[in-house]
Amino acid sequence: MIICAKFSKRRALPAISLGLLILLLSPFVYGQRTRLEPGFNLFSVQQDVELGRNVAQDAESKLPMLNNDRVDNYLNRLGKKLAAYAPGEKYPYQFKCVNDSSVNAFALPGGFLYINRGVIEAADNEAELAGVVGHEIGHVALRHGTNQASKAQVYQAPLAILGSVLGGDSMAAALAQLGGEFAVNSVLLKYSRDAERQADLIGTQILFDTNYNPVYMARFFEKLEAGNRGTDFFSSHPHPENRIDHINAEIARLGSYSRNRVNDTGEFREIKRLLQSLPPAPKQGEVQAQAPSGERRTSPSQTEQQQEARPPAPSNNFRRFYSENLKLQYPENWKIFGHEKEFTLAPEGGILRSADNSALAYGVEVSLIEIPEDIRSDIELKEATDRLIVSHQESNPAMRLIRDRGRIRVDGRRGLSRIYENESPVGGREIVWIVTVLRAEGLMVFAFVAPERHFDEYDRAFEKILDSVDF
Ligand SMILES: [Zn+2]
Repeated sequence: MIICAKFSKRRALPAISLGLLILLLSPFVYGQRTRLEPGFNLFSVQQDVELGRNVAQDAESKLPMLNNDRVDNYLNRLGKKLAAYAPGEKYPYQFKCVNDSSVNAFALPGGFLYINRGVIEAADNEAELAGVVGHEIGHVALRHGTNQASKAQVYQAPLAILGSVLGGDSMAAALAQLGGEFAVNSVLLKYSRDAERQADLIGTQILFDTNYNPVYMARFFEKLEAGNRGTDFFSSHPHPENRIDHINAEIARLGSYSRNRVNDTGEFREIKRLLQSLPPAPKQGEVQAQAPSGERRTSPSQTEQQQEARPPAPSNNFRRFYSENLKLQYPENWKIFGHEKEFTLAPEGGILRSADNSALAYGVEVSLIEIPEDIRSDIELKEATDRLIVSHQESNPAMRLIRDRGRIRVDGRRGLSRIYENESPVGGREIVWIVTVLRAEGLMVFAFVAPERHFDEYDRAFEKILDSVDF
């Protein structure tokens, strides 16, 4: 969870409800496409390209490249046309076809894109192929690969790597960390569902801007899903929830467009015919041994890596802490960060820091949010909590309520307890348990955070901390 809680202004809630109301009343809000920007990253844009180029070389030595100029030239013409509309940095994109019949594609940082022959064979028109390519371009433009790598690096070796990545031996250090080899580099290709949703939105915008009918962004995925052909694509690009709805909502935001867009070209049909005339691609099993992605193949090692790298479990021995406003106890292998009114209790490695924000991955943030004087006397606990959440959601757009546990007692005082889910700074989903208590000085907030997959291990420590609170 990105730590940046402020008490939102009085108008915040009505404004948001009004915004929602407008959204509900008019499904077509024109000219308001979703603006997306790259997230946390330790790499420079130039380093994205260097890293991508290095890994691409290794990838091409391991993958069964089709090496057909006509196909690759076509993919480059199509891809460059699409990439011209990508937001953000202009990367030196290159597109190549992999002689693999499974429906999959992947993009390395800096714009090195690989499209399996199976994608072209499964696409019914150029717009569908463009949808997949646009999705991959979205991953590059939003720098998802090095964003993942940055998270992994900060997580595993905060200071050493931070220093070397930002310092002179950046590339050597980064490659050493990542293993420097394509097959090992799954961290560059391991995207969260949120990253997938973002790549879909960029892809949808690109289709729209390049005059394809943007519905083909959704149609290809629907088709893969319906025909059970998406296993490979969805294992390396995890299928986001409500994928089609998100794409359709973006199409509505993009505004009106002519339904007579040219979605197919003679060139596309020619390339398909050419592929039909070539010997069939090697069987999937032969390729799989070295293929880059696919949850089944990569997840055991990733899981191991995460288990090794994550902070040690909370100690059962607790230690006392006295702040200005309260006393509590916390696991003795955790540390205290911050000052009196706002502090964080977390294990070593539980907080990820970058130049412009801190994100809590494991631990609890305790804060006293001051309430403006003019409303202090008449604000209710629920309203104060709602406003706090609005403020949290500004810096954590993926955060959403999964369970309202209602009332709770904290040291005998009335509080509220709610469970949210969010995107974890270490990848995957996290659980955020928020407990609020209204006090004369302001709203006392406890935000307990841990990745979903480890929450059970932390839950007990969290309960114990809350039980120990003494105002
Ligand atoms: Zn993807």
